[in-house]
Amino acid sequence: MESEKLFKEACQYIPGGVNSPVRAFRNVDMTPIFVERGKGCRVYDHDNNEYIDYIGSWGPLILGHASDILIEDIDKEIVMGTSFGLPTKKEIELAKIMVDAYPGMDMVRMVNSGTEATMSAIRVARGYTKRDKIIKFEGNYHGHSDCLLVQAGSGALTFQTPTSPGVPDDLIRNTLVCQYNDLESVKTMIQNNKDEIACIILEPVACNMGLVEATREFIQGLRDICNENQIVLIFDEVITGFRLSYQGAAGYYGVTPDLACFGKIIGGGLPVGAYGGKKELMSIVSPSGPVYQAGTLSGNPLAMTMGIRQLSYLRDHPEVYDHINNYALKLKQDIEKIIEENDYPCHVQCCGSLLTLFFKKEYISHYKDVQGCDLKAFTRYYQAMVKKGFIFAPSQFEGIFISYAHNENDLKLTLTAIKEALKECYEY
Ligand SMILES: *Cc1c(COP(=O)(O)O)cnc(C)c1O
Repeated sequence: MESEKLFKEACQYIPGGVNSPVRAFRNVDMTPIFVERGKGCRVYDHDNNEYIDYIGSWGPLILGHASDILIEDIDKEIVMGTSFGLPTKKEIELAKIMVDAYPGMDMVRMVNSGTEATMSAIRVARGYTKRDKIIKFEGNYHGHSDCLLVQAGSGALTFQTPTSPGVPDDLIRNTLVCQYNDLESVKTMIQNNKDEIACIILEPVACNMGLVEATREFIQGLRDICNENQIVLIFDEVITGFRLSYQGAAGYYGVTPDLACFGKIIGGGLPVGAYGGKKELMSIVSPSGPVYQAGTLSGNPLAMTMGIRQLSYLRDHPEVYDHINNYALKLKQDIEKIIEENDYPCHVQCCGSLLTLFFKKEYISHYKDVQGCDLKAFTRYYQAMVKKGFIFAPSQFEGIFISYAHNENDLKLTLTAIKEALKECYEY
């Protein structure tokens, strides 16, 4: 197996052999699959094994791998130059598409990752309110910047390190953690820190503790609380933006945040991130205001090109959302049938084109509920699925990502495999 050979070699030069911990397949007792190429919903390893892929680069590839919509004539763009450190027209074009799409957003700043987006949005909120404390939710992941690396979901859940060494206590002292879907926990926290809280940041649909949807009351409740207390409400839409709907989770819930963070989808597979919101807030960002934030490769022309192609396609083809949402719904309903027929102790949670099969019977609405999942069963299931030629995030605490390239036949193949894998998983 070429992947195993490559992994061994990678481990000599790269910590743990990977450039992001969740890629290591450690907690499913496997070594990672090294991908050589991808097309549509399929990826191929160096032994030419084919897999139907539900990772989709962890969200960005909503149109599938190497989609013609994104890559056609891309060489013509490359020969124009790959980075200038000077402004380009493309930055305006992508910003305009995003501002036109996203509710209540007047301005947007491009960065290079979701981590940068959330980190910078929080700086703006703190600069604007002149307050230091922030509220986040247990099990929500907002990238790996110091002050957000507290109770941070999947990566941390998978490796049982809720906070990380190297993050000084002083830096997280101002990070207050509340319970997801629990408005009372937020109200109490705000009462105990009156006029000290700059912002509340959350994943409006949590995708990093497995898929957990916020209730409408929770989201609307947060909006009201923020209004009453002059707190900046930040939606981390790094996964949900342009996926849950073209208007993101804001459109899905009909609730407008003050700031929103983007990443993943808006770069069509190239490294990118962005944060934006009301003019009043965004105009305090340097150089129009005093809050400093910068980036050598920010607004990179190739990333902008991919972003423009992907987002304009999504804007002009709303049927993409119907396709991926219907696919997810059918997958959910048919997995539920299998579970019911066999009385398996697991259940499915699904929102839009995001879905998690939890190895636990009871519905999960916040982080504490996640704990009781049968991780050994998940591992057996995962290994069985890979053997059958299907890959998705090697963690119980993630969702699967459906793309426009997954078709009806892929759905059938997937359901057959899931049926067999669950049987092997529970009747081993
Ligand atoms: C992936 C993710 C991030 C971090 O984005 P990176 O590009 O990996 O830095 C932040 N928030 C959410 C909700 C994410 O899923």
